[in-house]
Amino acid sequence: MTEPAEGFTGMRRAVVIGGGLAGMLAAAAVVPFADEVTIVERDVLPQGPEPRRGLPQAKHAHVLWSGGAKAIERLVPGVTDRWIEAGAQKIPLMSGMVAHTPHGWYRRWKKPTPHYLIACSRDLLDWHVRDLVLQEPRIRLLDGAEAVALVGDARRVTGASVLAQGVLERELAADLVIDASGCGSRSLRWLSSLGISGIHERTVDSGLAYASRIYQAPTRSDNFPVVNVQAAPRDSQPEQAAVLIPIENGRWLVSLSGTRGGEPTADDKDFVPFALQLSHPLVGMLIARATPLTDVSTSRSTANGRRYFEQAQSWPEGLVILGDAVATYNPAYGQGMSVAAFGAHLLSSELKQVGLREPGLARRVQHAVARPTEEGVGGRRRPRRLLPGHSRAGAFRRQPAHQSFPRPSDQDRRRLRPRRNGADPGDDHGGQCHAAVVARRAPRRRMRAAEAAFAGPSAYTAGTGAAELCPR
Ligand SMILES: Cc1cc2nc3c(=O)[nH]c(=O)nc-3n(C[C@H](O)[C@H](O)[C@H](O)COP(=O)(O)OP(=O)(O)OC[C@H]3O[C@@H](n4cnc5c(N)ncnc54)[C@H](O)[C@@H]3O)c2cc1C
Repeated sequence: MTEPAEGFTGMRRAVVIGGGLAGMLAAAAVVPFADEVTIVERDVLPQGPEPRRGLPQAKHAHVLWSGGAKAIERLVPGVTDRWIEAGAQKIPLMSGMVAHTPHGWYRRWKKPTPHYLIACSRDLLDWHVRDLVLQEPRIRLLDGAEAVALVGDARRVTGASVLAQGVLERELAADLVIDASGCGSRSLRWLSSLGISGIHERTVDSGLAYASRIYQAPTRSDNFPVVNVQAAPRDSQPEQAAVLIPIENGRWLVSLSGTRGGEPTADDKDFVPFALQLSHPLVGMLIARATPLTDVSTSRSTANGRRYFEQAQSWPEGLVILGDAVATYNPAYGQGMSVAAFGAHLLSSELKQVGLREPGLARRVQHAVARPTEEGVGGRRRPRRLLPGHSRAGAFRRQPAHQSFPRPSDQDRRRLRPRRNGADPGDDHGGQCHAAVVARRAPRRRMRAAEAAFAGPSAYTAGTGAAELCPR
């Protein structure tokens, strides 16, 4: 069945491809400016915090930094309370974290910062967003349906072609199509068939593998910290790490990770021994006597991938691409959900200024989205500095795969340790700056202020611009 696409004189319509986090947030962003928003989702979405095929990464540890959480709250008011009522925890940075770094234990700051992370299962996180977003009557969910093409031409996208129940194809007309279909997005191919090609794509694969398992915590885990044993990056040695996140219903979600040659296996028997032989055995010791509730799940979807849509020579009206469809991140950065939220928020800000049908809207949004995306992947400068195995062909052979906090170099990591005459990470000023960057509440450049503070008073005053970046 093919429904003719309607013109643009009637109802204002938006179609969102993908009903994951980015898709739900995009729908929330666009609905105040549209008469009807249709979310097209390949999965039949569960009616609760349940796993689903299209979100396999939900089996692995997910942290949502407070910067991302606040962006989501602005789009979906009330969602933070819903998460907390359902058993999620707001864990303060860094007092609520126990982290073993290559340079020893990370200081647990006494002074609280306003920054935190949300700890819960990904299924719970997504469910409460989805449930609230879908309460809006103008948002319609078409699940069990797959978008198979964009409709339109190189000047304007006018809708999406959708396959429902695998057979019925129809066109959904829209003033704005938002592709939020994740890392498997077919937008490059779809755009090419409309005559827009040459969009640059880059992948940086550290070869990181994840293995995760859920445990029943042996004691009540309210206020239990996030426990993190970081990798010690060494030349030609695989890196290995572990993180334990306390999640709802008194459970621990434990993710192990390792690079090529040091990957955790899918074998249940290997899980605890892997955690015990890390640079510190703490995670292994904690889970050795806890009861596993699931088998081990593995993932290798850990590459940084970036599609530079904003650099396209021309861009059609009516198409915006958000979330993992623009960029995926090494999970050790914990960035994907926050960047998806920032993207939806930027869409909302642009719509507030010009409305749904303003010429140039799509291109402006795509440009705006590039900013938080670049911060998420570490900016343009970062790969050269971080990746000594950078080959001439442009592929990166070796990359420090584990980086739980955004610390630009080994030298900077040492600075985060206490210094005799300088500040330490518990220092109010340096600590606040560092936490703000980690939590995605401040741009990465503010890290310079923290570094300067940690390096001591002379460096602090040596023209770093720290005072302006992070006033006391
Ligand atoms: C192991 C691992 C750990 C991670 N840990 C973290 C973390 O700690 N913190 C963090 O912030 N991020 C983390 N991430 C990243 C995070 O999971 C993603 O950034 C986030 O899910 C992106 O959301 P999205 O909505 O853009 O894409 P997705 O979650 O992939 O959603 C895309 C949706 O589109 C649907 N879809 C796809 N194609 C079509 C189509 N043609 N038609 C209709 N529907 C379609 C899919 O079924 C899916 O529901 C991690 C990722 C991995 C792999």
